Amino acid sequence: MALIVHKYGGTSMGSTERIRNVAKRVAKWARAGHRMVVVPSAMSGETNRLLGLAKELAPAKPTTPYNRELDMLASTGEQASSALLAIALQSEGVQAVSYTGWQMGVQTDSSYTKARIERIDDERVRADLDAGRVVVVTGFQGVDELGNITTLGRGGSDTSAVAIAAAMKADECLIYTDVDGVYTTDPRVEPDARRLAKISFEEMLEMASLGSKVLQIRSVEFAGKYRVPLRVLSSFTPWDIDINEEAVSGTLITFEEDETMEQAVVSGIAFSRDEAKISVLGVPDKPGIAYHILGAVADANIEVDVIIQNLSKDGKTDFSFTVNRAEFARTVDLLKTKVLPTLGAADIVGDTKICKVSIVGIGMRSHVGVASKMFRVLSEEGINIQMISTSEIKTSVVIDEKYMELAVRALHKAFDLDQPAN
Ligand code: ADP
Ligand code: ASP
Ligand code: MG
Repeated sequence: MALIVHKYGGTSMGSTERIRNVAKRVAKWARAGHRMVVVPSAMSGETNRLLGLAKELAPAKPTTPYNRELDMLASTGEQASSALLAIALQSEGVQAVSYTGWQMGVQTDSSYTKARIERIDDERVRADLDAGRVVVVTGFQGVDELGNITTLGRGGSDTSAVAIAAAMKADECLIYTDVDGVYTTDPRVEPDARRLAKISFEEMLEMASLGSKVLQIRSVEFAGKYRVPLRVLSSFTPWDIDINEEAVSGTLITFEEDETMEQAVVSGIAFSRDEAKISVLGVPDKPGIAYHILGAVADANIEVDVIIQNLSKDGKTDFSFTVNRAEFARTVDLLKTKVLPTLGAADIVGDTKICKVSIVGIGMRSHVGVASKMFRVLSEEGINIQMISTSEIKTSVVIDEKYMELAVRALHKAFDLDQPAN
């Protein structure tokens, strides 16, 4: 008898009809003899709707009291969908009970809107499973030491599911979504994208961190740390397909590079519109400058991604970096008020109309010329590269946002990702 965690995303939970389908699918797994824990997201659009209401009343402010209330608010979306799923399961004749993050004991830190799970107390759930119940646990939320409700960042239900699977030593965590697996790139941008039967954990981690929102990055980190068997698959197949067929469908995240792994040099392309570029111009070129600028940004708890410093001319240089687009205004304001006056820099310019496109593949470790091929392909399309960043298994470029789809498609083709793997 296996212990299985299912996670269903917002679109999969998007209407009562879809919730009934989820219930029928879960009931099928329970009747096959599995112990089932199910983690649903809020119904699609609900989290945005709730956060939109808050913004109508008061524009987003990065203050703790404001963010605390956002979590109190946004967490209700998952509470509603969990109860609805438990009701649907009961109407399928399955004993089911739903719990919120705090009832279940999902302990997090207190960083509202992006809390991290620290501990999960699974005693209550185990007792229910022993009594033959299906347990539904809200995704996306937890509770801090003082009993405040927290949320785990957008897309955080993936992380709830994988963390619960890790804590309970589940046999497998199945992430059901609106595509039938992990593709070579987002199939909504490149219709020729191919589903990967397997992807290595390291590649999945890069893809998620570089913008492929099919899995939240923290869920992949959890899966790696605790070796949780993880699969991404479709919730849109007929609920009554053969369970053995369903169990091997989609994309498996693998932890070992086995013989059968697709040996492409580049496995996937990720992209993100979430960034903005900031340049500090006319900075005196002397030791401590990077620290002076980025130290202030880090102290304000703003994450910096790609960084470049230009060659200096006449003792002055330009220093550019990217931050999350949501942090753009705050970063510019901080630099203008705190850094410019003490630095003697000339000016700050920003650009929010950029994007980051990345190629990812463990094959890049052992192949040279992959990055240069990427640059050539982009130049052939007339796309100007503004910034570059590389690591062992990825190369990212920052380009004008209007060329994002063109860049993704050109790279997808140039690296033969539209061709079946041999
Ligand atoms: P859910 O609501 O189920 O959590 P998400 O919208 O968060 O679903 O994630 C699924 C979406 O991720 C897909 O609809 C797809 O557009 C997008 N996506 C981005 N990159 C990829 C990729 N490489 N493979 C598959 N889907 C991707
Ligand atoms: N409902 C949350 C969101 O929209 C969490 C999730 O869907 O994973 O971000
Ligand atoms: Mg998601």
